[in-house]
Amino acid sequence: MYKNSKNVGHYLFGNGAINQLEQTLNETCPMKEGHVVYFIDHYFQDSELVKNLPITDFDKVLYVDSRSEITTDLIDTFTAELRSEPLPKALIGIGGGSALDTAKAVSNLLTNEGKAADYQGWDLVRNPGVYKIGIPTLSGTGAEASRTCVMMNFEKNLKLGMNSHHTIYDQLIMDPSLTKTVPRDQYFYTGMDTYIHCIESLAGNYRHSVGDAFSRESLALAREVFLSDEMMSEENRSKIMIASYLGGCAIANSFVGLIHPFSAGLSVVLDIHHCEANCMVMDVMEEFYPTEVAEFKQMLNKQEVELTKNVCSSLTDEQYTRLYESTIIHEIPLKNALGENFKDILTKEKIIEIFKRM
Ligand code: ZN
Repeated sequence: MYKNSKNVGHYLFGNGAINQLEQTLNETCPMKEGHVVYFIDHYFQDSELVKNLPITDFDKVLYVDSRSEITTDLIDTFTAELRSEPLPKALIGIGGGSALDTAKAVSNLLTNEGKAADYQGWDLVRNPGVYKIGIPTLSGTGAEASRTCVMMNFEKNLKLGMNSHHTIYDQLIMDPSLTKTVPRDQYFYTGMDTYIHCIESLAGNYRHSVGDAFSRESLALAREVFLSDEMMSEENRSKIMIASYLGGCAIANSFVGLIHPFSAGLSVVLDIHHCEANCMVMDVMEEFYPTEVAEFKQMLNKQEVELTKNVCSSLTDEQYTRLYESTIIHEIPLKNALGENFKDILTKEKIIEIFKRM
């Protein structure tokens, strides 16, 4: 059986594209009446960006705290608030992965009953969500293009998204001028997310020719950006925004590998942000991705970014066990990387030994 694939329906790309939000909404939103709900990264509170948005008195603005990973509880809280009001005509997510994923998750829950945790998994969302527009202000996670919205579920010790065609944005506005003020470290870690998605999917057992093509181009752009002298030049900010979008399209057609499950462990147990956690894992994965890890270290040096070290060197036995459990639970990507018998290679001891090197 071949898998049916879907990518984002419409997208605008270019410096200043955000100024076309109102026009785009009028042209593309199927519901003409009703209000709009904005999910905006808290980083932009009181910013020029927000002041310039076409927000009317009927619209609602909700800020998403992106300092820690979004949780199923947070999504349920936002959803409960919006369920008590008339259904909005559109949701607009503006920010990095957290704000973009929040808008995706809430959109699904406004047209599907129950709680966020009910839809963590694959193809569980039954009805299309509320129309949604994504405007990324960070490049790399691919959240703008992917078919998932990753949430932490502390009750189940689980980090997993609603993987569904319904999760994909209806419209994107990609404006590289929005990434000008991102702190350098964060820009690097986030940009590397797309690099890591692509190397994982290209090294996997479950391949998709279209996904591979997206991955190859995304990787080529990420290499140009992070091996150049100035990763944040205007040209490079455009390139990495495209790489992020293509990486998200790639992952919509394929699976991640070993790095993301370990990274999920770091996020669940130590609350380390996704992209930084990925880089910490990448740094110790020579055994599985030798060429890519060497290249990653070269990029770190070139951009003079310092990784935090020794985050797992002295934890309690209980924490190591939780790290193991929140890694091994990701069977699909682990099978993609190592085959059906992945548990023969990734024993509990082996996983803890890898974590201890971070
Ligand atoms: Zn990722």
